[in-house]
Parts: sequence; structure tokens; C-alpha cells
Amino acid sequence: MSKVLVVGGGAAGMMAAISAARAGHRVVLLEQNEKLGKKLYITGKGRCNITNACDLEELFGNVVSNPRFMYSAFYGFSNHETISFFQSIGLDTKIERGQRVFPVSDHSSDVIRSLENELRRLKVDIKLNAAVTGLITEEGRFCALTMKSGERLQADACVIATGGLSYPTTGSTGDGYRFAKQLGHTVTPLYPSLVSIQLASDAPARLEGLSLKNIHASVSVAAPKQENTGADNGEKKKKTLKTGKILFEEFGELVFTSRGVSGPVILSASSKIAEYVPKYDLLVHIDLKPALSEEQLDARILRDFDEAKNKQYKNALDQLLPQKIIPVIIDMSGISPEKQVNAISKEERRKIARLLKKVTFPVRALGGFDEAVITKGGISVKEINPSTMESKLVQGVYFAGEVMDVDAYTGGYNLQVAWSSGYLAGSSIPL
Ligand SMILES: Cc1cc2nc3c(=O)[nH]c(=O)nc-3n(C[C@H](O)[C@H](O)[C@H](O)COP(=O)(O)OP(=O)(O)OC[C@H]3O[C@@H](n4cnc5c(N)ncnc54)[C@H](O)[C@@H]3O)c2cc1C
Repeated sequence: MSKVLVVGGGAAGMMAAISAARAGHRVVLLEQNEKLGKKLYITGKGRCNITNACDLEELFGNVVSNPRFMYSAFYGFSNHETISFFQSIGLDTKIERGQRVFPVSDHSSDVIRSLENELRRLKVDIKLNAAVTGLITEEGRFCALTMKSGERLQADACVIATGGLSYPTTGSTGDGYRFAKQLGHTVTPLYPSLVSIQLASDAPARLEGLSLKNIHASVSVAAPKQENTGADNGEKKKKTLKTGKILFEEFGELVFTSRGVSGPVILSASSKIAEYVPKYDLLVHIDLKPALSEEQLDARILRDFDEAKNKQYKNALDQLLPQKIIPVIIDMSGISPEKQVNAISKEERRKIARLLKKVTFPVRALGGFDEAVITKGGISVKEINPSTMESKLVQGVYFAGEVMDVDAYTGGYNLQVAWSSGYLAGSSIPL
């Protein structure tokens, strides 16, 4: 039996502590907050989307950064094993739309409680208000942790499960990146991801709260940014992207915020464009009528205009568009809102059809870490053994969860990364 210290009492840390204790280790779980699972508590709008009940191929497909690194972790502790694991510790789950798995009670607090009960049953020593300040190694091996209290804790192994940078009020202060760097690890550039996109336009302020279902959204490159923002700290030089290159496209739902756009399709877009935002001027395009070709849409507008030929342009679009967006579209079309519909030329009508198929806004920035669901980037997976989650540089140091350079789409996939990597780290520590 060896002594194991787990740093971070979030999803990955609690799972690592459970699997290490089940394997027969003496485990101490160190959490700087006054309670465990502060971020878990707010997941899934307080309901905790624990995982996704999709098949394994889809699970890999929903990991955006470094899915192949997760091979052993997902095969060793899959999403279906997550569901049976929670069942075994007394938490009933249900599957909702999009195969999202939630606790039957709809309370994330029940997820935390069930994990805590299991930790206590396994006699894991849970230390709260226990902030770790550094790692001590000897001859390339882990030997101890230093604590804010001044204490020094010795052990045979430690698991770093300190999370990322998003929602820092939950305890994600980026300490794990610092510890890893001190050990000689590379930390890839860090970006907020699964986050809203701010637009350089006055439209969002006029459209705030408007939700558009069944649209097609895409993001393309306008041009490289003039100034170098210095955001590519240490990143290898990549080829310059061509103007017009599509970085992301998807059908779905978006919602306007006061400063930009959010909603499922935009959160997914953010995780594909995060690294390009500091380097390129980007454009968001919205196809408001994805089911119709431009010609079909033109024919539809012609029909609507025929029925409203004595009305003004500003009063002739309500069959086609939500009320709130009509003034914005009218402004963007450049046609006078007072113009009689029967005076609108064929060319102008075509212009409206083209516009509705591609409403374009320049991107100002992504939302910040304070509102991001996940951190993109982290400890380079090239320096972590994917079969054990052990550092390739320092023996006895393991990593799990968001602190690593792995991130996924929404739908329960990020927590699955935490459960699988935490489980693998905890169960790989030699007795
Ligand atoms: C609003 C929101 C909603 C989300 N909803 C979902 C969802 O429904 N489904 C999903 O799959 N994912 C969701 N996520 C993402 C998910 O929460 C994360 O992927 C997951 O929590 C990462 O787990 P972790 O254990 O790696 O990190 P965390 O959960 O962040 O845990 C890290 C822990 O380490 C502690 N710590 C840090 N530094 C130290 C230190 N020096 N000493 C001691 N302790 C330390 C922190 O206090 C923290 O408790 C959501 C995220 C947010 C922000």
C-alpha cells in the first residue's frame, strides 16, 4: 500500500481518489475550497450533465482537442461505465434529449453527495481549505507537496486534478499549470472555450434575447490581424489561413446576447475558433433560411411581396422573419424601410434573399474565462503517458481532468474526460 495525494476535489480529483482507494492505496484528497465539487455544483445549470450515453465512436468525435490521447482512458472507463458507477454508489440517472445523462433528481448536489459518501466509505482522508502551493521532487521522482499552511506532505505519488481557468470563483485558479511548468512540463496556450462570441456590431444590443432555431451558422477568416497580439506564446508557427476559409459550420440554435451571440451552435463554434481569434479577423455568418436555396427564398419573397404590394418594405417581412430582427435586416439591406413593396426591384429582392442566406457580423472577441465552460489548452498530452496518465518527465506525478490539453463539446463530454482520466490515473498508481 502506498500513500497517494490527490490535489483538487473536483470531478477528476474525486474520481482519482476513489479509484486509488479502491485499488488499495491510502489516499488524501486536498481541496482548497471549503467544500468539494464547487464547479460540479453549477454544471448543467445545477442539474449536472454527468456524461453522454452515445456510443464510443461518438464520444471520441465530441472531444475537440487530442481525442486519441483519451483512447485508454475511455476504453478503461467509458461513458457507460460512468452510468453504472454512479448507479453503484446510489445515484440513479436518466437519459434526456441528445443522449445527455442527468441524475434522476435533477440536482447536481446529489452527484457530489454520492461521490463524497463513496470517498468516506473508502476512508479517503478529505482535507478542505487545503491549498497546495508546490511540488517537491527528488531525482526525477515525486516526493512531497507544500501547503499554504506551511505544512509539507510526503507521499509516494500525487495526482494533479486542479482544473482549468474557467469560472475562477469555483477554485480554478490555474495552479496546476504552474506546478506542471515547475516540473518542466509544457503548457499549451490557454483560451476560454464553450463561450459566447462578441460581435463588432450594434445589432446584438438591438436583438438581445432573440433566439433563432434551425439556422446554419458558420465562421470564416476575413484577414490576418495587423498587430501581433503576442497570444501565441511558444506555439509553433503555423501556415497563414486564407481569406474566406471556413473554420466552423453547423446547423442549430443561437441566441443574441447584449454584446454578441451565444447558444449551442455558438458554444461549439467557440471551441473551434478560440486559437484563431487573437490572430485573425473573423466573420460570423448566419443563414436564416437554411432549408431554402437562394432561388427558392427569392421565389418565397416574391410571393410575400405580391401579397403585400401596397405595403411599405418595413411591413412586408413579418411572414418571413421574427419581428425583432426585421429592422436590423432592413438596415443591412440598405433599402429604404418606407419604400413601397411594388417599387422594390428584382435586383433589390435578390439582394434581400442573399442577405437572409448570409447575415454577416465581424467578431470582436470571445467571452472571457469568467463565463467560459471550459479551458482550451493545458498540460501538453505529449508529456503524459496515455495508458496511465503519469507524467513522462517526473515519476509518481499523475494528471487528470481539465488541467490537461483536452477539451470537448457540451453534452456531458467534458465531465466524461474528467471521470475517465481520473479513474485511469487513480488505478494506475503502483501499490
Ligand atoms: C457553468 C459550467 C457548466 C458546466 N456544465 C457541464 C456539464 O453539464 N457537463 C459537462 O460534462 N461539463 C460541464 N462543465 C465542464 C466541467 O465542469 C469541467 O469539465 C469539470 O468540472 C472539470 O473537472 P476537473 O476536476 O478537472 O476540474 P474542477 O472541477 O475545476 O476541479 C478542480 C478543483 O481543484 C481545486 N484546486 C485548484 N487548485 C488547487 C490547489 N492549489 N490546491 C488545492 N485544490 C486546488 C479547485 O478548487 C477545484 O475544486 C461545465 C462548466 C461550467 C463552468
